[in-house]
Amino acid sequence: MQCPFCGQDNDKVVDSRSSEGGKTVRRRRQCIACHRRFTTYERAEEALRLTVIKKDGSRVPYERQKVISGLQKACYKRPVSDEQIRQVVDASEEDIFRNFDRDVPSSFIGDAVASHLRELDKIAYVRFASVYQNFTNLGELIDEAKQAQEMPLPGKKQKALFEPPKPEDT
Ligand SMILES: [Zn+2]
Repeated sequence: MQCPFCGQDNDKVVDSRSSEGGKTVRRRRQCIACHRRFTTYERAEEALRLTVIKKDGSRVPYERQKVISGLQKACYKRPVSDEQIRQVVDASEEDIFRNFDRDVPSSFIGDAVASHLRELDKIAYVRFASVYQNFTNLGELIDEAKQAQEMPLPGKKQKALFEPPKPEDT
């Protein structure tokens, strides 16, 4: 980033924060040459210009918030923080931008998100995959579901994974 004071292109970022749900990053920079500080605002242009091609062939603009909401639903009552969800989305977007310039099939987004979520929480992954993934590999999903059910969980909660607990007779 070129220094607005001395014109040198040599600076360090001293502070960085995002706003508008990650669309804008505000960076406080310090010029290495003259030591003066300046602020830059960078928009995530890549995220804004990405188009999702849905299974029926229709095209919609990519919305990061939609991916986050889908993940939040899958992670409901799971030990996954908002920060971890954001990291899953960030990692998935990196995959997307590495592989596609402008148009990305919705199935690729689903696969990318699912694979990163899988490393984090198997149960959330199964939930996510059952809703968002086109079952190209149903056997794998069944294996994951089995593994998730076999995971040691405290007490009665295990039954509540796929069916709501029956009301107690009083
Ligand atoms: Zn400078």
